[in-house]
Amino acid sequence: MRLLFIIILFVVSYFVIKSITNKLDKNKPIGHRRAEKPGKPVQTKMLKCDECGLHIPEHEAIRQGNHVFCSLEHARQRLE
Ligand SMILES: [Zn+2]
Repeated sequence: MRLLFIIILFVVSYFVIKSITNKLDKNKPIGHRRAEKPGKPVQTKMLKCDECGLHIPEHEAIRQGNHVFCSLEHARQRLE
């Protein structure tokens, strides 16, 4: 009877550990995906130039208040 108890204890603890590691595994890929997002160029937000209508990546755009421009030249043209 003692051996049976030990076996049951092992089986129960096995399933408990398995369910905990499963939860951790499910959380891991989501965290990785979130971490990768900012670095991917495909997901870069594109903004339209108010002067010529050209689409430029957000980090290359020149912002003047509510306006977005592709270059300083176009920003100046619009503001003059
Ligand atoms: Zn432009």
